[in-house]
Amino acid sequence: MTTQTDRVDHELIRAAVHVAATRCRGDNHTMAAAARARDGRIITAVNAYHFTGGPCAELVLIGTAAAQGAYDLDSIVAVGDRDRGVVPPCGRCRQVLLDYFPALKVIVGTNDGLRMVPVTELLPESYIWADHQLDAEESTPLSTS
Ligand SMILES: [Zn+2]
Repeated sequence: MTTQTDRVDHELIRAAVHVAATRCRGDNHTMAAAARARDGRIITAVNAYHFTGGPCAELVLIGTAAAQGAYDLDSIVAVGDRDRGVVPPCGRCRQVLLDYFPALKVIVGTNDGLRMVPVTELLPESYIWADHQLDAEESTPLSTS
């Protein structure tokens, strides 16, 4: 079940399409992502493919946004080069995006059915990393006195 909570941000898609068309080159950079920061700015990035597990465009974008002082993202979209259109985030990115930005909305779907969905809907029954970190007090060994 998908909840349509927001109008699709077409300006964000256009930004990603532009980066995909103008900045993706060869096999190293084949995907572009664009995100809307909380302050309204659009941040863009491309993937850095490497066989050892180079980061997807969404992950590069998180670092790029932080480097520009944008630590809170409202929405994100990824687009493939060579006119492949909107591409949904892979499983790893879904997990990372959920952990960084639990309220994030992700643009998914095809051109005739694009929609913005909460990242939580893309990862149902999700593992929340922060919920499984023992705080320092809990991990202190019991006193023996
Ligand atoms: Zn990914």
